[in-house]
Amino acid sequence: MAHRNISRLVNKVAVITASTDGIGFAIAKRFAAEGAKVVVSSRKPENVSNAVNKLKNDGFSNVIGVKCHVSDANDRKNLFDETLKNFGKIDILVSNAAVNPVVGPVLACPEDAWDKIFDVNVKASFLLAKEVTPILRDETNGSIIFVSSYAGLNPFPLIGAYSVSKTALIGLTKALAQNLAPENIRVNCVAPGIIRTKFGSVMYESETAHEAALSMIPMNRLGEVEDISGLVAFLASDDAAYITGETIVAAGGMPSRL
Ligand code: NAP
Repeated sequence: MAHRNISRLVNKVAVITASTDGIGFAIAKRFAAEGAKVVVSSRKPENVSNAVNKLKNDGFSNVIGVKCHVSDANDRKNLFDETLKNFGKIDILVSNAAVNPVVGPVLACPEDAWDKIFDVNVKASFLLAKEVTPILRDETNGSIIFVSSYAGLNPFPLIGAYSVSKTALIGLTKALAQNLAPENIRVNCVAPGIIRTKFGSVMYESETAHEAALSMIPMNRLGEVEDISGLVAFLASDDAAYITGETIVAAGGMPSRL
């Protein structure tokens, strides 16, 4: 995919959770390419250092990495503390981490799996937003972006409980956007369709699943991580200065409703 040479995030500092692979890594790379200072993070320190090295090898020097399991309060505190220590401020939070430990309809989800899904996908996003807001208040144009899913608007039976957790993020976006709009902190959400990543592979890895996925997508192709990273960069930038409380679907034309 051709990279457009634009620099909308110069002088911005961005923290992106779950950003050592897949969509999060693509967002980190796109933000860095648009001039942001970027903090990559995920649970495994070796993944964090590999991601930082890859970005540095690509010529992006304003990048640091911090290990952060989003459900761990100490890790979240350390993520923001290290960002402030290295870059002095935070303008943008992208809350991108999610888990999906079970496959099947909502009522087949065991209680412990439900708790895990909501702990990582919803509660950690809420806590990250709560903890970063006092820091964003020190800047003039703060921005929070949640990574939800097309499944949050139209639940997929295969990933029932996960779909519900992603619906909750759309509600969190609307509620927080109302609260924070008077302070010029914008809160938006993206809802990717089926994107070619490790996490998304359950939706397309067998030939049957791949055909079934393509049959749902009017554009007749799976999404690529760059289909999402450009959208997130737009929402983080001043080009989206009058947009808050929105969930933008990027799903190759799959119809959405909420
Ligand atoms: P991915 O390629 O599998 O990457 C997952 C990333 O998350 C890795 O960097 C992983 O690194 C990190 N991670 C996992 N659990 C974490 C935790 N508890 N705390 C912090 N980091 C964690 O996944 P992806 O497809 O890009 O998914 C990213 C987001 O997009 C998720 O919110 C997902 O729900 C959403 N999404 C994906 C699709 C799709 O089709 N791919 C569609 C809609 C929405 P470590 O192992 O080092 O932690």
